[in-house]
Formats: sequence, structure tokens, C-alpha cells
Amino acid sequence: MTTPTTETTPRVVHGPKRPGTPALEARNLTKHFPVHQFRGRQVVHAVEDISLALPEGTVTAVVGESGSGKSTLARLLTQLITPTSGELLLDGKPVGTSARERRAYTSQVHLVLQDPFSSLNGVHSVRYHLERPLKLHRKPGRGELDALAKSLLERVALSPAENYIDKFPHELSGGQRQRVAIARGLAVQPRVLLADEPVSMLDVSIRLGVLNLLDDLRERERLAILYVTHDIASARYLADTVVVMYAGQVVESGPATQITDSPAHPYTQLLLSAAPDPSRTEPVELRGRGAPPSLVDPPSGCRFHPRCPFAMAVCKETAPPALPAGGDQVAACWLLSPDHAPTTAADATPSATDE
Ligand code: SF4
Repeated sequence: MTTPTTETTPRVVHGPKRPGTPALEARNLTKHFPVHQFRGRQVVHAVEDISLALPEGTVTAVVGESGSGKSTLARLLTQLITPTSGELLLDGKPVGTSARERRAYTSQVHLVLQDPFSSLNGVHSVRYHLERPLKLHRKPGRGELDALAKSLLERVALSPAENYIDKFPHELSGGQRQRVAIARGLAVQPRVLLADEPVSMLDVSIRLGVLNLLDDLRERERLAILYVTHDIASARYLADTVVVMYAGQVVESGPATQITDSPAHPYTQLLLSAAPDPSRTEPVELRGRGAPPSLVDPPSGCRFHPRCPFAMAVCKETAPPALPAGGDQVAACWLLSPDHAPTTAADATPSATDE
């Protein structure tokens, strides 16, 4: 077998390919959380060397299992946590760390949380939740505040606004609360919306309405949206580009339909095989099942190798670079390398001993 190359590979920027400067760009973001154990100091390798560009008017879905690092990535992008290394660029300019620069950044990049029940304060009305950020960030003149707050509700399709503006969170459905949470984010006129599992706690019947709202905001307000989800089917529905994360790393990215129609990485194939599909009549063969690895001591080489039915010797020794998989699709898998690609059908068949 050919020895894997050790040359430094060029930085791969994941996300929709659009001309011009992206609204938000992350370069080589890495986050290690220290953990103190009996035998000394160790780190959780939560996010490793991710470069991502979010152009305006696009939706990028970050997909992965629990513990893949996708929510940590969203929090790094909001500056809620500080990266171990790497940098953020807003409209092509490096983001500063002074209090004034951080406040300016917060008004441009807004995080929508998973739980609409806890993200709104139950003792305050919808009006309070919307007028507070308007006063802080936009300082409207007297008499303007009421009209601005109502227009925010209209923008998230809570119409007529008079029916909602003086209600309290407990008087709203889960979907309506999530719309109010999104409206509150729009109050600061952001360029980028980071939505962390925004529909996972909602009834299935109202999820589609919130996804359609995000789609509408991308189109109408030209927002750059990052949609974090464990549900690859909803990512295909909403996103321009899908970025698949496993154990803190990006393993595959590309146009949403291409990734879901022709996944190149065995982990993406596993995610798709586990996704609900009403048109499927055959039972699903869940190959490569198992638990995600410890991020304190992640597996050597390809981090997916202990679960991968196609794992080869090279996979255990050397981490694969992002390799082209057709068009704008890339996947970090040695199967795509001419040096390691299977040459026969038998080579491409998963080994029973790996199950
Ligand atoms: Fe599987 Fe090897 Fe590809 Fe990793 S690099 S996904 S172990 S075939």
C-alpha cells in the first residue's frame, strides 16, 4: 500500500460558494476544553480546525450526532466561547475582542436557541421582549417603538401583530414562541442568524412553518443563516449547503441535494440510512453503528475508523484530508484517494469482522 502523503493540504473553506466577501467567515477554528483529572490535565477536542464561509442570502446546515461539536461551533461563531485558535471575519474584516467591538459583533450575529420555552422570560410580555433590544441597539424616537415592535412580529408571520404583542409566553404555542425568539433576534438588524436546533423541541406539525420562516428570511432579508441540526432530512429541505461533522471535525460538505443524493463519506451514508424516509419499504441496514468516540482521547487517524465498515490500515494511522468528491463536494475519506480507492467490488464491500 502506498504511504500516505504528509504534505500540508490547502485550507478547505466549507459553505455555499458565492462570489464576493461572505458575511461571516471562520478560519481554522479550534476549541479545546481543559478537563482536570486525577492523573493531570487533559483536553476535550471539541472543534478541530474548521474553516467556514457564510455568504448572505444562503443557508448552511451543520449536521451531526450529539457530541459532534456542531453546537460548540455555533457558540464559537457567536463569540459566546473563545476559540483556542483560529479567527473570525465579519464582512472580510477580523473581529476584535474589545467590549465595543464585541457589542457591535453581537448586533450583527444573532443566536436562536433550541428551546423556545426557556429562551423567553415567562414574567414578561412579547412587547417587553421585542422593545428591549430595540431600545438598546436602535434607540428609536418616541412613538416609533410600538410600530417597530409590531413590524417585527409581522416579519415572522405573527399577524395581525395586535393579537400577539401583549401576550405572555405561556399564552403562545411552541412555534409562536420560537417566532417571537427569532423576531427578537431581528430587532438588532443582524446580518447572520445562527439557529441551533431551532425546531427540535417543537411538535412535528409546526416544524415546517419555522423552517419555512427561516427560508423566507434568507430570501427576503438576505440573511446568512447557519442551521444546526441532527436531522439531515430537514437540512436537505432548507439548506443550500450541508456540512457534516463527526467527533469535532468536518467529514463532508457540499451542495445539499448532492450530499444527500450521493454521500461520499461512510458517516454521511450512515446518517442518511438512519433518517426517516416514508417512501422506504425495505428495512434499513444500519452498518457502522456504534457510539461516537471520546473527545478526550479521540481515535488515531480517521476518527470514524472504529465504526467504519470500510476501514483500512491507513485509516487507523493517518487522518484523511478533504478530498474532492465531484463539483463542490468534498469528503475526508481515504476511499476517495486514488492511492486507496477500492479497485474491486469486493474491496468496496464492508467487512463482516468490522461490524
Ligand atoms: Fe472509513 Fe477510512 Fe474513510 Fe475513515 S478514511 S471513513 S475509516 S474508509
